Amino acid sequence: MQKRISLLGGLLFSLSLFAQEGPGNLAAALLRQMTLDEKIGQMTQVTLGVVSKPEDGVLDPAALTKAVQEYKVGSILNVTNHALSVGQWHRVLTQIQDEAARTRLKIPVVYGLDGIHGQTYTLDATLFPQSIGMAATRNPALAAAVAKVAAKELRASGVRWNFAPVLDCGRQPLWSRFPETYGEDVYIGKTMGAAVIKAYEEDGLKTPGAVASCMKHYLAYSAPRTGKDRTPIYLPEIEMREYYLPQFKAAIKAGASSLMVNSGEINGTPVHASKYLLTDVLRRELGFQGVIVTDWEDIIRLHTRHNVAATPRAAVAMAINAGIDMSMVPMDFSFFVLLKEAVQKGEVPISRIDDAVRRILLLKEKLGLFDNPYPEAAAAGNFGRPEYQTLALQAAHEAMTLLKNDDGALPLQHKMRVLVAGPSARSISALNGCWSYTWQGKDERWYPSGSKTIFDALSDKLGADKVTTTASTGFDSPSNYDTAALKNAAAGADAIVLCLGENAYAESPGNTSDLALPDEQQALARTAAATGKPVILVLTEGRPRLITGIAPLMKGILLAYWSGRKTAEAVSDVLMGDYNPDGRLPYSYPRSMGEMVLYDRKPTEDIREIFNSDMTMDGYRPLYPFGWGLSYTRWDYGELALNTNTLTAGGKLTVKVTVTNSGKMDGNHVVELYTRQHYASITPSMRRLRAFKKIFLKAGQSQEVSFALDASDLAFVDARLKTVTEAGDFDIFVGDRKAVFSYSAGAKP
Ligand code: BGC
Repeated sequence: MQKRISLLGGLLFSLSLFAQEGPGNLAAALLRQMTLDEKIGQMTQVTLGVVSKPEDGVLDPAALTKAVQEYKVGSILNVTNHALSVGQWHRVLTQIQDEAARTRLKIPVVYGLDGIHGQTYTLDATLFPQSIGMAATRNPALAAAVAKVAAKELRASGVRWNFAPVLDCGRQPLWSRFPETYGEDVYIGKTMGAAVIKAYEEDGLKTPGAVASCMKHYLAYSAPRTGKDRTPIYLPEIEMREYYLPQFKAAIKAGASSLMVNSGEINGTPVHASKYLLTDVLRRELGFQGVIVTDWEDIIRLHTRHNVAATPRAAVAMAINAGIDMSMVPMDFSFFVLLKEAVQKGEVPISRIDDAVRRILLLKEKLGLFDNPYPEAAAAGNFGRPEYQTLALQAAHEAMTLLKNDDGALPLQHKMRVLVAGPSARSISALNGCWSYTWQGKDERWYPSGSKTIFDALSDKLGADKVTTTASTGFDSPSNYDTAALKNAAAGADAIVLCLGENAYAESPGNTSDLALPDEQQALARTAAATGKPVILVLTEGRPRLITGIAPLMKGILLAYWSGRKTAEAVSDVLMGDYNPDGRLPYSYPRSMGEMVLYDRKPTEDIREIFNSDMTMDGYRPLYPFGWGLSYTRWDYGELALNTNTLTAGGKLTVKVTVTNSGKMDGNHVVELYTRQHYASITPSMRRLRAFKKIFLKAGQSQEVSFALDASDLAFVDARLKTVTEAGDFDIFVGDRKAVFSYSAGAKP
């Protein structure tokens, strides 16, 4: 499939001489020669369906010519309900780049898609835990290793631009994209997001294993007031800067090449129309130099949905003037026509167009598309290597979060006869979730053969004669909810593994008004418990579904999230004691819809007033707190040793603690460090996670774990919207240990 540069002709060859002089020269040289049509075409992104025949993976040559020659389209994406083989991808991308090579300036097309937890749209690609599960691993090095494989499998398919990672802070668990987030904590989001971006880009985008990242969705997309996707956000700027902006700041520092904009509106201003957020904050304040791309159809929606632009052309002018570089139009060429009119009428300055096009060309240049736009032979060899399966299993293992284990019910014993029941017992899609071979991830026909269900994995381990099931394939199959069958089958079992949760969904189709686990699933749990057999609940879900009524009836609860290709194997390894669980909750598992307090709450959220001064201090009472996660071994902490009791500006606070595995099983363990400032100029949080480290200890071993903090680690956004560290006393919490220190510089509250 690979073609040589000489095929692209003399002009490109002479332009490539500029490229040798340094990044940006090729882009500048091209820009000088481009017509307005050619420039606007570069800013136009359409979806694959616009240039395809109805059959999967077959391009329509006439439609492709129209898009690339007539409208000079510079970028194509896809969101399809099917996956293609590597070979099919190569044919599609070669045809697209061949068409681009026939244009006057031969500017290659940049192709992008959403490899959210692996390369979504290639058959047999390796899928890893969703970001919410990766956050539970508290292992940024693992997140980086996973991202490298995702990048390799995208690039092996010929795709060089990944619309990931999602940096939206998951503080609204109703939101259907919660599984794509790193959960409720800012520090985890910053750390994991930056690790993933570096993994994609740090070797240079010309490397056959690299992809351009696209941090998204700027800004605060995850905070809709109703919890429904793409509905209004009301957000004071102090909250925006404290909880939603830092992840983007860290990502820019990590080298992110592009950014996608939030489809929603904040305080009545659609983000796609916000010059303040796109230009003043993102470009000027944060110094972001990369490409800003819209989300799906979001420019025209300024007119058709948000009603802030009276005409379609006004919508286009508004968005481009606000700072958008590329429009994911993506179903037609209206953007091209409207932007051209807007420029000709003087509604959008040509300087803004040139600025956008320069950034887009620079991205293409950095990606090596001008050297060779075709699927690369060197990259293709990186697809589907056996070691990726090992990594997928490790990631799934480390995500597994054991929420409950009464009376040592887990691990199960090998001699036991186990009944496996519930809608996700024989489902593959409910283990993988969104963006899994298709956008919604529901259609199991596209999953690799050999993908295991929890029933399969337990049968493999225990022997088929010891494992029975009442479940059928198909999450919604009526037999999965048959309580009478469950009761009968339980008679012959020593334990019940009940697999409940959510089937796959993505974006708006995943909207829900109620987080409660559906009644029919809860009925299964009650029936199972009523048999008197120990019941182990396995939750495969993208967001926390409420289990408060049934949790006390369960002997054990394992939260498996949607952990990708190896979810079933990881679940069975934990259930049978072949893996010691070490996942930690990346969110506060809510008790009810009226108890949505987050861990980094304010002091008055802890207080529950009863009558006058009569009060309790149990305002933070999730079913399971942020950071929760049980192990099969015991972890003990020594006293905290601080190098000083007073941190000074420019100084370092070192915190050392000896951690011991005092149980009988080897294992990984996450050591987390939280701080609390006693008094500050605005109400301080009760706790903030400031650092974490993951260690491995054999049974009986100890290790000293050391953290170094400086003043910036204690900072918060004050009433003037400045990030500051104020003088005062702080608590520091590590495990069950606590110490106090003070910070001596800065203003006093
Ligand atoms: C989603 C984006 C995604 C885009 C292209 C949109 O609907 O919000 O996250 O990148 O589609 O697939």
